[in-house]
Amino acid sequence: MNISHRIDNLKKLLAWIEKNEKEIKKALLLDFQKSEFETQTSEISVVKTELKHFIKNTKAWAKPERVPTPPALFGHTSTIHYEPKGAVLIISPWNYPFQLAINPLIPALAAGNTVVIKPSELTENTSRLIHQMVNEVFSPDEVICELGGKEKTEELLTYDFDHVFFTGSTPVGRIIAEACAKKLIPYTLELGGKSPTIIDETADIEDAAEKVYWGKFLNRGQTCVAPDYILIHRSKKDQFIEAFKNLEKANAETPTGFVNSSHQNRVAKLSGNGDNYRETRCELIDSPDLNSDIMKQEIFGPVAPVIAFDHLDEIYKIMALNPYPLALYIFSNSQKNIQDILNKTQSGGVAINNVIVHLANHNLPFGGIRTSGIGTYHGHHGFLEFSHKRAVIEQKFLSKTMRFVFPPYTDFKKKLMEKI
Ligand code: NAD
Repeated sequence: MNISHRIDNLKKLLAWIEKNEKEIKKALLLDFQKSEFETQTSEISVVKTELKHFIKNTKAWAKPERVPTPPALFGHTSTIHYEPKGAVLIISPWNYPFQLAINPLIPALAAGNTVVIKPSELTENTSRLIHQMVNEVFSPDEVICELGGKEKTEELLTYDFDHVFFTGSTPVGRIIAEACAKKLIPYTLELGGKSPTIIDETADIEDAAEKVYWGKFLNRGQTCVAPDYILIHRSKKDQFIEAFKNLEKANAETPTGFVNSSHQNRVAKLSGNGDNYRETRCELIDSPDLNSDIMKQEIFGPVAPVIAFDHLDEIYKIMALNPYPLALYIFSNSQKNIQDILNKTQSGGVAINNVIVHLANHNLPFGGIRTSGIGTYHGHHGFLEFSHKRAVIEQKFLSKTMRFVFPPYTDFKKKLMEKI
């Protein structure tokens, strides 16, 4: 697919989204009462920004890149060609059902691939709208949308795709990786996990409470990078809990709902709230048992355990129970503490004195580590993820120099090669 055609496709996609913003908001409202404000910011604007970034940069990114050639290969030129991988399968989850289906589609198209999208079966209205969009914007030999659940994904995984891009839970990620391994298909896994938030004794507690509250309120905590559990210095815990409760009282607005009753019941059970859970917007669970389910499972809902610590060393033991989080949040004004935490932990990404925003900068790679994901995307990182980097070397002149490595291997040739 030539570059100008790829860019035209991205422009057509942008125009369709701009024309259908109302329809997108309506679909998400029907699917899980997602507020128009959140749909605008976290589904539509995010995708439009990414599209504009790709429309501007695809031409430059797709150009073959000249790289230096070592002296031993004098006479050659070396180039990396960014080629399409081929046919790409994108499997997306329900929690940001529009954004997480379209944001991988953008780099996949920019890199010149053909695409099959399989959106979530749990958000029927949005998935049907994506299906309609794909039919209206693209020709079927470029992009198609397949609707269905687990069985549809299983069927799609029997085909010979050239790359599979999956966003969803870690257990399903394993199933995808196994299916790809059988055919040696490369894959990207954007998964979940328990993202810790560390608040030390030097942090601005009111600021931390406001940001953590937002991270839990947004999409009702059903965000892959939502702060999961909070590790806070004992001297600041009461102040933090008080500030959090005040925010809860001040935000009477009804937030986004749960996608279905089984997700709601799962969160209710984790928090020990039973059927009353429907009423709760955001809630802290003070000092849960480290062996309880809420400290073992990704919460993916508006509750957060809070655990006090006296010394930083204690937090590393707690974090080791759930290694490889997708995100890590640090609230601190001590560079020494920040460095200590960065040096002693691993995570897909980090935000310091904020939450979630690391994914809003398309110059940063977005992805997990081990159980929270394999591979990255966003901006140029996404273009590279969907491209095959083909090494091309061409002998332009001094063709005869290569004879020095051909047999017979004389002493003279040996000495010459050692010198080179
Ligand atoms: P999920 O894993 O249940 O489903 C994701 C997709 O996989 C859906 O399209 C679904 O139809 C398909 N699927 C489900 N079960 C399958 C099976 N057995 N075989 C084949 N395909 C199957 O995830 P979800 O509940 O839709 O989304 C929530 C999860 O996604 C959370 O763990 C969250 O952290 C994660 N997530 C990660 C990111 C990220 O960018 N890293 C973003 C959003 C969500």
